[in-house]
Amino acid sequence: MTIQMVDLKSQYLKIKNEIDAALINCVESTRYIKGPEVKQFEENLGKYLGVNHVISCGNGTDALQIALMAMDLQPGDEVIVPAFTYVATAEAIALLKLTPVMVDVEPDTFNIDVNAIEQAITHKTKAIVPVHLYGQSSDMEPIMKLAEKHKLFVIEDNAQALGAETVFSDRTIKKTGTIGHIGCNSFFPTKNLGTFGDGGALTTNDEKLAERCRMIASHGQKQKYYHETIGCNSRLDTIHAAILNVKLKYLDSYIAARQKAAEYYYKNLSELNWLTLPNKATYANHSFNQFTLKIKNGKRDALQDYLKQNGIPSIIYYPLPLYKQPAFQQYIPYNFKLENTETLCSSVLSILMHTELTSEIQDKVIYTIKKFEN
Ligand SMILES: *Cc1c(COP(=O)(O)O)cnc(C)c1O
Repeated sequence: MTIQMVDLKSQYLKIKNEIDAALINCVESTRYIKGPEVKQFEENLGKYLGVNHVISCGNGTDALQIALMAMDLQPGDEVIVPAFTYVATAEAIALLKLTPVMVDVEPDTFNIDVNAIEQAITHKTKAIVPVHLYGQSSDMEPIMKLAEKHKLFVIEDNAQALGAETVFSDRTIKKTGTIGHIGCNSFFPTKNLGTFGDGGALTTNDEKLAERCRMIASHGQKQKYYHETIGCNSRLDTIHAAILNVKLKYLDSYIAARQKAAEYYYKNLSELNWLTLPNKATYANHSFNQFTLKIKNGKRDALQDYLKQNGIPSIIYYPLPLYKQPAFQQYIPYNFKLENTETLCSSVLSILMHTELTSEIQDKVIYTIKKFEN
């Protein structure tokens, strides 16, 4: 038996009848673009998240781009992002001729450091894009306060955290992606709610922003063939909406399965002093899209090689800080360096985490990790 990083096949087989019926129904309806399933999914997701407006789109990267376009920023305006994230977060900013300003993350939660945001704010700053990395909420309460004080937009990159929650100091709980002005979601197959291809959605409680996002995603038109603004063509295909309508019903059980698998790792790996298990922030209910270790003593790459030799896959999210990527050099000051980001890039390792993990597979992963000569 080969062990895979994710097991989408087993997940599908458990709901095969429902999915297959939804797919065939969609194929036979021939309403492949903007079919009724799309609107239904937007309603369902809105209800699930407790948010007023959901605008589906082509993928998570498009969602980020559409969100920024909806805010009507000017070339050269600055948008603050964590330096330790997937490229898409900063790519959309640069694509729109805005300036990505990269700041450090916290070493324990891997998420954007609120103090670092504050230090990076200038008169050109217009927005902050916190990323709920690996499925855990950023510290949204102080981020929203800071944004309010400086009149900044907050766009949550919720691609890895759909279904996760933020816990506020008064104990209210909100789903990530519904706290900032706009939340950006991805339905890439391996995300918390994945389709059989690409898909994305924006979420907001702001009616004006919702209207602008919907218009931008549809060639800048509200009415067919009347184009008010330059937009793009970014749609969730009906077939993906049909799949997502089925899978959304299981999202909570998928997250529960991830959390259960995470607890099993916590229970069985905590004695190893040469690695650090992921931190669970008091202000967050972690959805564990990833389970990411920090490996001490420069042994990360050796551990990954050793696991691979023993048939156990693992992935490094992310090996390079965004500011070291050739694509972003024009935005980076000479000798720019962020301590925590660099340390994480050389020490993180995400191990097996998915909705179908069995304790047998986890036992093999745990046994093998424990035997690593170090
Ligand atoms: C996956 C991801 C995206 C982009 O989503 P796509 O649907 O693949 O375009 C953006 N940001 C983060 C943090 C992601 O993990």
